[in-house]
Amino acid sequence: MQRRWALGECWLWCERTAVPVLWLGPALWEGGNAPIHACSWCIRHLESRVRGVLTRGADPAPAPGRRRWAPGACWLWCQRIALPTLLLGTVEHAGHQVPLYGCDACIQRLEDKVRAALPYVPVS
Ligand SMILES: [Zn+2]
Ligand SMILES: [Zn+2]
Repeated sequence: MQRRWALGECWLWCERTAVPVLWLGPALWEGGNAPIHACSWCIRHLESRVRGVLTRGADPAPAPGRRRWAPGACWLWCQRIALPTLLLGTVEHAGHQVPLYGCDACIQRLEDKVRAALPYVPVS
């Protein structure tokens, strides 16, 4: 996979457009998959979350195929904890497989982004 910075839209917390973003990996759910791009600020934010998970001794990489709701922390915009979350996909960063969990409301929001972006996602 090519990892290079390109100008684009950050799909994580800051939601800025026309910033240098890096492709992190596909998020998968019913209906397809979406490339997750994030800017350097959000990647640092993600890294600090990953470090937190690793420090607590939790397994940051659940078995692939976990497609059910389980109580956890939402890693997306609301960042609430102890609510039903679904594994969206796994992104790779700095040698770690990082699971992205989202709550229902945040998944809806991501899906809206995906739908808006789909005509512009290059087929490669
Ligand atoms: Zn960002
Ligand atoms: Zn959420």
